[in-house]
Amino acid sequence: MDFDFTEEQRMFRDALQDFMQREYGPIVDKRDREGPFTREEEIEINKKFQAIGIGIDPENMKAYLDPTLFGIMSEEMSKVWASLTPLLGMGAIPAIYVPLASDDMKGRVLPRLEKGEFVGAFAETEPEAGCDTRDIQTTARLEGDYYIVNGTKTWISNAVTCDTAFVGVKDPETGAQTFLLIEKEVSPWETSPLHKIGWNASDTGEMFFDNCKVPKENEMGAILKSAFEKGQTLPISEGFMKLFTTLTPTTALLTLPRAGMGLMSVGIAQAAFEASVNYAKERVTFGKPIGKHQLIQNMLYEMNLLIETARLLGYKAIDTISKGDPDARRLSSMAKVYGGESAVKVTYHAIQIHGANGLSQELPLERYFRDARMQTIPDGTSEMMKLISTYTILGKGFSAYA
Ligand SMILES: Cc1cc2nc3c(=O)[nH]c(=O)nc-3n(C[C@H](O)[C@H](O)[C@H](O)COP(=O)(O)OP(=O)(O)OC[C@H]3O[C@@H](n4cnc5c(N)ncnc54)[C@H](O)[C@@H]3O)c2cc1C
Repeated sequence: MDFDFTEEQRMFRDALQDFMQREYGPIVDKRDREGPFTREEEIEINKKFQAIGIGIDPENMKAYLDPTLFGIMSEEMSKVWASLTPLLGMGAIPAIYVPLASDDMKGRVLPRLEKGEFVGAFAETEPEAGCDTRDIQTTARLEGDYYIVNGTKTWISNAVTCDTAFVGVKDPETGAQTFLLIEKEVSPWETSPLHKIGWNASDTGEMFFDNCKVPKENEMGAILKSAFEKGQTLPISEGFMKLFTTLTPTTALLTLPRAGMGLMSVGIAQAAFEASVNYAKERVTFGKPIGKHQLIQNMLYEMNLLIETARLLGYKAIDTISKGDPDARRLSSMAKVYGGESAVKVTYHAIQIHGANGLSQELPLERYFRDARMQTIPDGTSEMMKLISTYTILGKGFSAYA
């Protein structure tokens, strides 16, 4: 068993660590407090990442072609600024379908994607259905060459700023569900922002589709069918692609973001842990550094153990995705729960170790704590992840929510 990254993965990690510290380390605390990124800021961020070879455009997609690089990206970006992660993470879902879209859509959207001027969203959650995505109410009625889409999506990352969204819909007659790749310029929708305790700079909002007219060739099945006929496939790794044949496409698609969320949590927790280790060496009470008090040592031990375990689970989940092993469903769900809940505990201890300073806005501990608290809900709540993991253990007939 090899626990080491390859030389290429190490170089990717080191370059990204260096970039994050240099580019965002000095501004993160102030800018995060000011609220969601504007679209212009997001485009600037895209372009900066593209300049170091990271992006959601076909040229710079290496982190999506090697799931381990995606894991490293999730961890290292979040270690400095968790709010950046949904932009490239969720934005990637519509982006991977763009190169396979109709010539008409590709002609407009691909150049934007290549220039870093594309912001994407994955819109499934609805006000009524929540976790129960089988019950979505957004309808797509086929009328001639167009789908007419009606419904509301909520708590969607990049909702307000995105230009292209991958939207979950159902047929009003049969109830059959699919996704539509919808371009705002051609098929406009309305949005409204939502506010939350963490990931402050990440845009989150609602999307309202009111008789929105979408060309029928933008339906997921139609895109994949036409791509298959032309000998094209999704620009993802072979193993990840294999999962699409053994699991349902949506289940397969969500394994990578969920493992990524687990490692995103590790990044936030690691930042809080490193700050705590430094503080424990410097802060003196009762005539000695607090790191010499046994109760502080116990907290550091617990924090370190949670991080090490969450990291192992996260990269184990990534490994199964790389190999196309259907156990990726169980492991990515577990990695998401364990990582998120561990980050909450680690950042709680980190504030405790810092005393009053931990609560102050002068230090980033309160941001780590707020960002960690986010991790147990988006991309599948801890409860749903536990039910999915256990269903895969018990097998057919044991789904707790079917
Ligand atoms: C910042 C942020 C970004 C997000 N980004 C996106 C995005 O980009 N795209 C997207 O589609 N969605 C996104 N979401 C939505 C997210 O996926 C949902 O919030 C989540 O799936 C839960 O839905 P809900 O909030 O309606 O909770 P509810 O479904 O109302 O659940 C409430 C509580 O009940 C529990 N629960 C529900 N059903 C069961 C059950 N059967 N058994 C046990 N417990 C249960 C839940 O775990 C939760 O604790 C985002 C959310 C946030 C906060």
